[in-house]
Amino acid sequence: MSSARHDGRQPDQLRPISFIPHVAPHAAGSVLVSFGNTRVICAATIDEDVPRWMKMQRVEGGWLTAEYSMLPYSTLERKDRDISRGKLDGRSSEIQRLIGRALRAVTDLSKLGSRTIWIDCDVLQADGGTRTASITGGCVALAIALNKLMAAGKLKAFPLTKLVSAISAGVVNGQPVLDLDYIEDKDASVDFNVVMTESGEFVEVQGSGEEAVFTGAEMSAMLELATKGSAELVALQKKAILEADKPSGDALASLAAAFGR
Ligand code: UDP
Repeated sequence: MSSARHDGRQPDQLRPISFIPHVAPHAAGSVLVSFGNTRVICAATIDEDVPRWMKMQRVEGGWLTAEYSMLPYSTLERKDRDISRGKLDGRSSEIQRLIGRALRAVTDLSKLGSRTIWIDCDVLQADGGTRTASITGGCVALAIALNKLMAAGKLKAFPLTKLVSAISAGVVNGQPVLDLDYIEDKDASVDFNVVMTESGEFVEVQGSGEEAVFTGAEMSAMLELATKGSAELVALQKKAILEADKPSGDALASLAAAFGR
């Protein structure tokens, strides 16, 4: 059975994707990534130190970790900040660990030197796929930060081995589709989040039936959709990283244009 998507997209079509670099000038690298109406601020900060456990265990090299949070006004109903509730939400914790694993899979930590890179992903607007946008934008922020370290002569070799991105695929109304927004996500019988490198390797696949089961054929269809989406994302990431290096970037003007103002 096949039916049209509510926003008119083809089953294998991504939402409009954009990257606006340098939105947080104090970070070593930052980008506002949009997957349609899902918008996430991703920022990389460099700490010239490593976690205590690395020193205790005499582990060489550096570390990379991530934090994820939804801003209170990112959802239709205000979402309390974790700090106000006194504990980190289980979902946020799962997502930030996923972001960290995804980025560490493509980072040669031994080339980082004795430093920690923090990737902060703060959701400005949530409309499905905030974790996939966070990984994809987090990788761009990381590349911008590492380029800056290289230019400052602080690194001998570039630690990022390849780009990583993530995209969702799911079964909605019996049809496998790519990059679900919230309307599709809440109706999906199956939801997959697929993290892939620019070489087409899988880093992580999170997939589950929601009060439903799925067949091997459906799973293959979703992985095929994700592979196509990931290749498109990588091309856009490369362009964004290259453009971020150019001094022209007026982040405020780009933001205004992105928000149609
Ligand atoms: N969502 C929300 N409030 C929450 C959690 C999720 O409004 O506390 C919405 C939001 O639009 C999010 C979507 O539900 O993007 C899907 O959430 P999910 O946990 O599947 O993660 P995501 O798709 O954002 O990675």
